[in-house]
Amino acid sequence: MVPEFVNEALTDFSHPEPRQAMQSALRAVHDEFAREWPLLIGGAHVTSGAWFESLNPCQKTQVVGRVARASQSHAETALDAAWASFPEWSRWQPAERARLLLKVAALMRARKHLLSATMVYEAGKTWGEADADTAEAIDFLEYYAREAVRLGGPHPLPRLAGEDNELMYVPLGVGIVIPPWNFPLAITCGMTAAALVTGNTVILKPASLTPVVAARMVELFREAGTPPGVLNFVPGSGGEIGDFLVGHPRTRFISFTGSREVGTHIYALAAQVQPGQRWLKRVVAEMGGKDAIIVDESADLEAAASGITTSAYGFQGQKCSAASRAIVLEPVYQDVLGRVARQAEALRVGPAEDPTTQVAAVIDQSQYDKVLSYVEVGQREGRLVVGGEPHGDEGWYIQPTVVADVPERGRLSQEEIFGPLLSFIRARDYPHALAIANGTEYGLTGGVYSRDRRHLEQARAEFQVGNLYFNRKITGAMVGAQPFGGFDMSGTDSKAGGPDYLLLFTQAKVVVERF
Ligand code: NAP
Ligand code: MG
Repeated sequence: MVPEFVNEALTDFSHPEPRQAMQSALRAVHDEFAREWPLLIGGAHVTSGAWFESLNPCQKTQVVGRVARASQSHAETALDAAWASFPEWSRWQPAERARLLLKVAALMRARKHLLSATMVYEAGKTWGEADADTAEAIDFLEYYAREAVRLGGPHPLPRLAGEDNELMYVPLGVGIVIPPWNFPLAITCGMTAAALVTGNTVILKPASLTPVVAARMVELFREAGTPPGVLNFVPGSGGEIGDFLVGHPRTRFISFTGSREVGTHIYALAAQVQPGQRWLKRVVAEMGGKDAIIVDESADLEAAASGITTSAYGFQGQKCSAASRAIVLEPVYQDVLGRVARQAEALRVGPAEDPTTQVAAVIDQSQYDKVLSYVEVGQREGRLVVGGEPHGDEGWYIQPTVVADVPERGRLSQEEIFGPLLSFIRARDYPHALAIANGTEYGLTGGVYSRDRRHLEQARAEFQVGNLYFNRKITGAMVGAQPFGGFDMSGTDSKAGGPDYLLLFTQAKVVVERF
């Protein structure tokens, strides 16, 4: 019997023992920077002759690993392998596939700090952020294992005289899993595990900025006994093999998390039926956000400022759930702005490997350029209050930035920036605040700080987001308790980590037998 699901505990690095364990994991990862990571196709490691490098955002010249780059012909071979293994894998009992996930979870728990340390170097995650990412990956494995058993169990239907009716959820076929770099273990693992545990076989194309941690995860699936061909690993350019796989007639479904731009492109490409294609492709696409926190005049202003600061600058603001807009009612606007500005200024910026760092570097040159270009936009549209400057040139560091008096219809309040830049927007009254909050094409997370019950109830009904939080930060949804996904241009609202998620990887079949 599998015990009830509980979330993986986070590590308390204030204790010497876990601190030392993490230090030695960082050394172990550092010692493997020269390692080369091959493709995995049909159970065999393959090198392509072409390589790309994964870099440390906090030290731009440091190569964290070299990863084989798959070509279109590798992608084609991976499709062959995945379809060849599908008939047998799809007939494994749900409990057997679930047990494999539990084994991967156990392996992950045993190598927890090694995985986290990889993300410290490869993604620029601080210790705490990296640890939370690994814990969430373990949660997805544990949670989907249990969900698969439930979904595989009997589904009672009303009785009809003389007939036996049965409903079952069967797998779809071969799916392409395309994760982003910002939760390079948790989201990669969650999407992969969900597709596999429901009986599908998978081609995983990791994000090109974070392939090493994905490669480590794939090794754990292999070590746990995933049969050859069931999980194939094909790092490579999104534009090249991503498009090829998404558009391929033998692709049955695509599970994507990433930007609105790429998500809408995949959605359109997958909708075109190709010669020889025998199904409508299923697309799950979870995309960006322009997430807002509203503060009204009844709120605990210090709690609000802390919640805004944590939500805006955790992992350098590179979370789909990050607060990028603070919408504050006129009477308390200056007060909250002042508190957030002071907190943002006090954040310690530095290399992710330093355990005291609170804000590290952004992921790459193009994100760095993009964020700084929005600082310029902010200086035109509003008033720069804090930050806005690079911080040293060893890595892609940008100081936590606050721009005040941003107009509700400007670029800063509409476009996803995905960095440590927070906009303050003034609201006349509470209905105006809600209208501003709902005034973007996105609808992922949102928050309200208020002690006014009517205001909270109004937001509960009218704030159009997939994940709404009252009187707390708007990041850090927990698997199981807080299923996650957004409305509108934030995507298909798949609610990862919730009871509806696995259905997306199945189709329901009904069998009726006349007795
Ligand atoms: P991205 O640029 O859209 O990339 C995501 C993935 O798509 C990567 O693996 C990328 O590969 C691949 N890709 C790129 N072009 C492709 C194409 N033409 N065909 C198929 N695949 C393609 O997103 P990102 O920069 O990695 O991640 C940040 C974004 O993800 C933000 O917008 C954030 O809000 C969003 N996000 C959303 C959620 C959510 O749950 N809603 C969670 C996390 C992140 P390459 O790396 O090779 O380009
Ligand atoms: Mg990108």
